[in-house]
Amino acid sequence: MTEQHEAPPTTSPTTSPTSRGIFDPELLDDCISCGFCLPACPTYALTQDERSGPRGRITLMRALEEGRLEPDDPTLREQASFCLGCRACETVCPAGVQYGTLLEQWRDHQWRGVHTPPAAGMLRAGVRVTPGLAAAGRVRGAARTTGRPAAGKAHLMLGCAERALFPGVSQAVLRLLPDAVDVPAGQGCCGALHAHNGASGQGAAMARELGGRMAAGDGDPGVVLTTAGGCAAHLVHVLGRDRVRELSEYLAEQWADGAGPPLRNLGVRAALQDSCHLRNGMGVTAAPRALVARVAEYVELPSAGTCCGAAGTYALLRPEDSRRVLDATLDEIEAAGVDVLVVVNPGCQRQLVDGLRRRRSTVEVLHLAELLARALA
Ligand code: SF4
Ligand code: SF4
Repeated sequence: MTEQHEAPPTTSPTTSPTSRGIFDPELLDDCISCGFCLPACPTYALTQDERSGPRGRITLMRALEEGRLEPDDPTLREQASFCLGCRACETVCPAGVQYGTLLEQWRDHQWRGVHTPPAAGMLRAGVRVTPGLAAAGRVRGAARTTGRPAAGKAHLMLGCAERALFPGVSQAVLRLLPDAVDVPAGQGCCGALHAHNGASGQGAAMARELGGRMAAGDGDPGVVLTTAGGCAAHLVHVLGRDRVRELSEYLAEQWADGAGPPLRNLGVRAALQDSCHLRNGMGVTAAPRALVARVAEYVELPSAGTCCGAAGTYALLRPEDSRRVLDATLDEIEAAGVDVLVVVNPGCQRQLVDGLRRRRSTVEVLHLAELLARALA
């Protein structure tokens, strides 16, 4: 039986006179140390160690803020990277703690200079290369760009990971929405990966730049349409809710009251793996399920809303822990007897394709756009 660890000593929820200015003090003060978040936390479930749960991590953040721990403290370093950043803790927190923002502020401070995990530093630099590769024709197969954003259309974002790994997703979107969507040229990266890997200022600046490139002009700010839940939540955080739509919620709006193209039933059993940031950051859960149910027999996995271990760059930064988190999801998928697993984020898609392939599973992983395009009559 796993040992239950006691909660570490908490500090008074007031700002210390020795605050270092790493965190917004009112965000740290929001936590009342009630522990309601512990059962929702995948890393706490793995370890049953208080330090590996949201409450313990917030206690560590307070110690860092107040100068009682230094950034090179081994526990701080371990917990800053062990956290998935899935934000499941936010959805059950009675005090409304903005854990995702606190984690960004923590990593901004923690992952500097020699304390930057090598893989995180390489990833921050590497994503900037992707637009260059695309421009040079090295990333092929994604939807062709259509020039300047047109007024009245939603502007499809070609996410960095998706255009490189799953280029068929953007093509599927154009088949589903041939008249409503354009694909502006010269998009660049939205900066979500940077924001989650210790460079939140750079991530916000990249999102604003992308927002500017996606504006049609003439007073039309332009809606950015994305097929990646992680990118959607980051863009909403920076650009605001009105300017951003994730694909499933956009289709739910466009195809309300029976509108949209005829779709045939594919005769398959299909489950959904939520995107953490789409579910926990934006609250979008019903739309993708309803769309899957239009073309397949929908099967709800018990842990559909629990992180699959992809978590942005987590599978690269902590591959062993990522697989430990993934294993439970794979067990459920195989036990459910489904033919297709539907995803709404490219990181989840890569994680689940790889995991199911390792198990020699016959379950097919498809992005929601690919599933629906397959059902076009
Ligand atoms: S549920 Fe919220 S207030 Fe309670 S310990 Fe967790 S983060 Fe803090
Ligand atoms: S973000 Fe996820 S892994 Fe991190 S503390 Fe919250 S629930 Fe746990």
